[in-house]
Amino acid sequence: MVSLGSARRHVLDRVPARQPVPVTVADALGLVLAEDVVAAEQVPPFANTAMDGFAVRAADTAGAPVELAIVETIAAGHAPTSAVGPGQASRIFTGAPIPEGADAVVMVERTELVDEGHVRVQVEVPTGNHVRPAGDDLDVGAVVLAAGEVLSAAHLGVLSSLGVESVLAHPRLRVGVVSTGDELVEGGRELAPGQIRDSNRRTLLALAADAGCDVVDLGIAPDTEEAITASIRRGVAECDAVLTSGGVSMGDIDLVKVILDRIGDMRWMQIDIKPAKPFAFGLVDGVPVFGFPGNPVSSMVSFELLGRPALRQAMGHGALDRPIVRAVADDGLPRRSDGKTHFARVVARHGVDGRVHVVTSGGQGSHQLGAMAAANALAVLPDGDGVGPGGDVDVLLLGDVPSDAGLPIDPA
Ligand code: AMP
Ligand code: MG
Repeated sequence: MVSLGSARRHVLDRVPARQPVPVTVADALGLVLAEDVVAAEQVPPFANTAMDGFAVRAADTAGAPVELAIVETIAAGHAPTSAVGPGQASRIFTGAPIPEGADAVVMVERTELVDEGHVRVQVEVPTGNHVRPAGDDLDVGAVVLAAGEVLSAAHLGVLSSLGVESVLAHPRLRVGVVSTGDELVEGGRELAPGQIRDSNRRTLLALAADAGCDVVDLGIAPDTEEAITASIRRGVAECDAVLTSGGVSMGDIDLVKVILDRIGDMRWMQIDIKPAKPFAFGLVDGVPVFGFPGNPVSSMVSFELLGRPALRQAMGHGALDRPIVRAVADDGLPRRSDGKTHFARVVARHGVDGRVHVVTSGGQGSHQLGAMAAANALAVLPDGDGVGPGGDVDVLLLGDVPSDAGLPIDPA
């Protein structure tokens, strides 16, 4: 058996980050930026008002209430046509440019119309009141996004606010997925004796898509050398990485490892973990091929520990693993010593005590996809007896962790 650490090193050493390419901002969500982005213009581009109200000279509001003569009305998207002189004010709407001469805004709620041409300002305001200066958000020359940043919705907004339409980023990987096995049936067709439905392909396609990859469905390959070889060959021709499931354990008809050995530079491993002990990995024509085990939970855990980190590394990510937190195992997570690290399927919640709490999500067999589907975390149980009730355990968070506490606001 090899350690999980050495298996990961073997894989990660062979899946380097892909060269950055120009990507339109519209297609960049979730990609890793490969250049610093420097603001070439100011945001906002001009001083504007944060409130509906009147643009005034702050000095004119001394000794309020004061009456000022209205010069004009300035709406967002329109340039002022006149300056505001002493004793004057311009009606102004949120986002509109501050007119020359004015240096403050009085919100409409603090004013009263005397007649069509005059407004009474009821409060004294300081210079700059409700004025958003040019460059107040992003200033020219500032590094607004650094290389390595994973582009989020807000980042795309920042780029758009600067008029940037394309950035250098590590490209999305195109990942092909094939299921192997004579027993596998597609879709809802009637099952002949001995047949089961293919679930791994749907799961692995979804996991790869969720990791930010484009995915290609390579179908089911029956257990013949010709069929599996053809699927893998098609995959490496069309994709940047190929994921297979099944055919990597000890059995005689575990063909994936045989084929990967013949057509590529393959390493077959027995890793000291449960589930997901068998794993094959090789480069075929330079394209990484991941041979995950066939049991549904094993293929998912193997993807989480060996596939996802490598795909993320290829897409330029610095953080390869899911978040890991120290949680409380409310009911305990017992196990037997067998020389392996166990990854137990658990349900995690944020407790009101500020800690993450986990309980088992159900049956822990490597075929029991139901309990994997019910889980949102994997508890890492080093070799030994496991964890007693209330004990600490490290967990890998696979998804959102709901909270027992609500938003800290008054209920409606
Ligand atoms: P294997 O790794 O090919 O020996 O398969 C191990 C177990 O996983 C067997 O019970 C297979 O029937 C099952 N299995 C293999 N591939 C799939 C799949 N794509 N979907 C669901 N179960 C599978
Ligand atoms: Mg099989």
